[in-house]
Amino acid sequence: MLQNVETETRSLEDYRPIVGDEAIEEIHALAESLQGARVVHVNATAFGGGVAEILQTLVPLMRDVGLDAHWQVIEGTGDFFNVTKAMHNGLQGMDLPLTAEMKATWQRHNELNAKKFEGHYDFVVVHDPQPAGLLHFTAGEQGAHWVWRCHIDTSHPNPRYWDFLAPYINEYPAAVFTMKEYVGPGIDFKHLAIITPTIDPLSPKNTPMEPAEADAIVARYGLDADRPLLVQVSRFDPWKDPLGVIDAYRIVKERMPSVQLALVGSMASDDPEGWDYYDRTVRHAGEDFDIRILHNFQGVGNREVNAFQTAADVVVQKSTREGFGLVVTEAMWKGKPVVGGNAGGIPLQVIDGQTGFLVGSVEACADRVLYLLQNPVEAKEMGQAAREHVRRHFLSSRHLADYLRLFNQLLR
Ligand code: UDP
Repeated sequence: MLQNVETETRSLEDYRPIVGDEAIEEIHALAESLQGARVVHVNATAFGGGVAEILQTLVPLMRDVGLDAHWQVIEGTGDFFNVTKAMHNGLQGMDLPLTAEMKATWQRHNELNAKKFEGHYDFVVVHDPQPAGLLHFTAGEQGAHWVWRCHIDTSHPNPRYWDFLAPYINEYPAAVFTMKEYVGPGIDFKHLAIITPTIDPLSPKNTPMEPAEADAIVARYGLDADRPLLVQVSRFDPWKDPLGVIDAYRIVKERMPSVQLALVGSMASDDPEGWDYYDRTVRHAGEDFDIRILHNFQGVGNREVNAFQTAADVVVQKSTREGFGLVVTEAMWKGKPVVGGNAGGIPLQVIDGQTGFLVGSVEACADRVLYLLQNPVEAKEMGQAAREHVRRHFLSSRHLADYLRLFNQLLR
């Protein structure tokens, strides 16, 4: 059997005061025809990164409204996750080789995981490329509706990777992408749903934290809450551009010497590149003690991420590629204006000049950060607009509604 991931319980009623009656009633109506429907989500990791974050809430919410929902993770060796990380990068357009051995590793692990896939389901939702071969190697369980949920931007993939993966993806009758533009070339799904990720306003990461508590937590990591603080929370990954964030911070620092920078990153179990890029980031920061580079092995968990996002004066997300960017949503929900890279899903969230600023270079990033630090009243207003934007569009209850809508369509 594939490993089952336990989740906490969630009650949709608890979301009512935040999202309003209409949204909740709509969900109950959508769930009516799906009572008892057996659903399994399959992905590569129970911890670290956006997908695990989403499933942590989505699965128990599905249960709460009457579906029999589960979450399972595939198994893999270091070899396999090296290949899938390369695949992730290749699918987002990086120029990398794809050897026959790499292909065989991916196929072998998908085949092994397919053998371990047990149970009978009405809906099987397979997340991202790592387990995308499950449908092929299980030959598709009778009666189940298979959905491939792609969280990354495959609009301009490296053809070596795309040509290899496309036949496996093509077998899925239904797919979910974050943006229409992300669907790679030459694939025509029978059902295509566009669903953006969301955050859970009731998770420890996103529930309101008193400023004093947030300040005390960041102080434990050597930061002074009385001085301006820039924060980027991200895996250590070239697309997240932590080196560019340091460069932008340095420009800001020339004008505002008291500024500090915290780069907070988790090491996901399916991301072997993380430590290498962490080392590069540390080297790039050099001897500047106003830069703190932290990760989950230093006790940075959900509450700490919350604290950093709450204590920040400006949150930066300088990605050059970004599927969606849940960290942007999380920061906006805390009323922070975000200076974000004009990439992928970030512009869905950051409306330039209203809920934050979009930037395309280190210089522009530094310029907008400085502007927000020097204009705190405007920064606060933008932060409020950011929070409202998230409340309306990017909270878990909306995500649940979108999936229920898709399941209903597949049943028809
Ligand atoms: N995250 C975390 N600790 C960290 C860094 C990231 O808990 O040190 C979480 C972050 O809060 C967010 C998720 O990991 O919920 C990252 O999702 P995102 O969509 O921003 O990026 P991905 O890692 O999926 O590319």
